[in-house]
Amino acid sequence: MNYFFNFEKIAYLSGNKPEGCILCLIKDSSDKVQNLVVHESAYSLISLNMYPYNPGHLMVFPKRHLIDLRRLSSEERQDIDQLICLSMDVLDETHAPAAYNIGCNMGLPAGASIEHLHYHIVPRYHREIGIAEIFAGKRVLVENPFETQKKLIKAFAAKAEKKQN
Ligand SMILES: [Zn+2]
Repeated sequence: MNYFFNFEKIAYLSGNKPEGCILCLIKDSSDKVQNLVVHESAYSLISLNMYPYNPGHLMVFPKRHLIDLRRLSSEERQDIDQLICLSMDVLDETHAPAAYNIGCNMGLPAGASIEHLHYHIVPRYHREIGIAEIFAGKRVLVENPFETQKKLIKAFAAKAEKKQN
């Protein structure tokens, strides 16, 4: 089913911006934030981005509230690295993108809207959706995040299990 999912509206419906760090609230499973987590490891979490640039846009972040990536322990660094690779393995299957943009914005002036260190995994598609098409009703902007979340939780669990064996 094709339809336009309005993320702004979710944020609006869930009330004002919560106090405190949004990624720490997600880590603590706070009911003040929309929980879009799809996978958890010893040191890190993977969540859908609330304001996705593209379908399947994920964020990987350490559970520890860190701002500077130089402060990551070697265990955390390795864990994050593995989760970034796992994310691509899963997205290859669920979304089949043509390419990826991967990176982090460190520090608010660099464009990060969240201070807590996080890496963006943005799938890129051959034919990305233009605003004109959305208004013309020809294409969807994004998937329903809760449907995507369900699909990805399953896919991550299956892929993580396969890697362990
Ligand atoms: Zn935090």
